[in-house]
Amino acid sequence: MDLILRGGTVVTAGDTFDADVGIEGGRIVRLGFGLGPAAREIDVSDLYLLPGAVDVHTHVDVEFQGLQSVEDFHSGTVAAACGGVTTLIDYALPGPGQTPLETIQAWHAKARDKAVIDYGFHVAVFEPDDATIQQIPDVIADGHTSFKIFMMGTFEQNIGGFMRMMAQVGRHGGLVNLHVEDACCLEYLARRFNADGKYGAAYFAESRPRAAEGIAAMRGIGMAQVAEVPAYLVHLSCEESLESLANARGRGHTVYGETRPCYLHFSRARMEEEDGILYAGWPPLREADQMEILWQGLESGVLQTVATDHDGWSFQQKKTFDKVDEILAGMAGLETMVPLLYSQGVLKRRLSLNRMVEVTATNPARLFGLYPRKGTIAIGADADIVAFDPEARKTIRAEDMHSAADWDPFEGWEVQGWPRLTLSRGEVVVDRGRVLASPGRGRLLRRARFSETVARL
Ligand SMILES: [Zn+2]
Repeated sequence: MDLILRGGTVVTAGDTFDADVGIEGGRIVRLGFGLGPAAREIDVSDLYLLPGAVDVHTHVDVEFQGLQSVEDFHSGTVAAACGGVTTLIDYALPGPGQTPLETIQAWHAKARDKAVIDYGFHVAVFEPDDATIQQIPDVIADGHTSFKIFMMGTFEQNIGGFMRMMAQVGRHGGLVNLHVEDACCLEYLARRFNADGKYGAAYFAESRPRAAEGIAAMRGIGMAQVAEVPAYLVHLSCEESLESLANARGRGHTVYGETRPCYLHFSRARMEEEDGILYAGWPPLREADQMEILWQGLESGVLQTVATDHDGWSFQQKKTFDKVDEILAGMAGLETMVPLLYSQGVLKRRLSLNRMVEVTATNPARLFGLYPRKGTIAIGADADIVAFDPEARKTIRAEDMHSAADWDPFEGWEVQGWPRLTLSRGEVVVDRGRVLASPGRGRLLRRARFSETVARL
């Protein structure tokens, strides 16, 4: 064997047990006691061995409203690895006229020489024309098996095309990811607020109300049902959309929900502070009572995943725009997602440690065609492992974080529990905050179809 992690406590979605982990050729080959010898051994006693998190919602290197994020696939994946994320699936967004396959090529070119962990892509579709719909089987056959639809912006103008697209994805075994905010409500409110001169962070949350998320969730789920395609609702933030999700799941529909760290850790009051504009996101932060509803949704199984929706914008970039429909959305989260879920979730008894593993690693890997290669600690799986120190204490400071963004939404937060070592395919890529990975070592993942893999969740 190449490497043995000796004396740790392995945590999976289903079990917690003490075992040595034997690694060869980048994969886990043995689990047991007294393994060895191996070329290298690392003592991990008193540490949890978690499967590396699989963050299925990132925008690592992105241009939006004429601004280029300060993050790239090196800084973004280094931040991920430091925080215990060993796989990400980023959203490949097409430029005007770009086909899905061209979009993936363009995104692969951004990541290829920079990423330090493995990555895949979901392709967004803004214009579901016939050529795009016809290409979907080739995109899926190429291993990119999930597609994003934003139910906002120009969604209404293309509604027929989106239905045909959804049906095509369903026929070929894929999954559609839906951004659920209602175009009609958002457009009406933005127009009204802009006309009334209601600019800035103070009006942002009101311009994208919970009702708009609720009706889009209900409609998106219904459309997916008619189109016969499984659906995954991204970054849910409130009880309105969770109710639609829970109802549909209760009736046996194949539909899933994700939430995002900022909705678990912040309420809308954060946007009223002086730097509130930094906390703008789509959807916006919600009332404080919604935070507990999301924690309960995660614990009870209404929600299946947590993902960051990571965006690396600088402080200055976040302050560029003032109109409610132009305010730059998004914030960094890759490095802090797992430690914050541990501190705020596991230690506060809102989630078990196994459930934390399930929602950050196992479920996302299952839903997006990566399981059991990613998302668990088992014989045959890639050795993507985080040796997590449950006693480590840290104060989050932007200057210590590895994102290229010069601010962190959790600045000054005290956390308990932080990754000591991160392994990607058996290679130690981070050791006590020292980054050992070379840029470009991360590989593009070709994912199985949803229809081939799941294990109904
Ligand atoms: Zn997003």
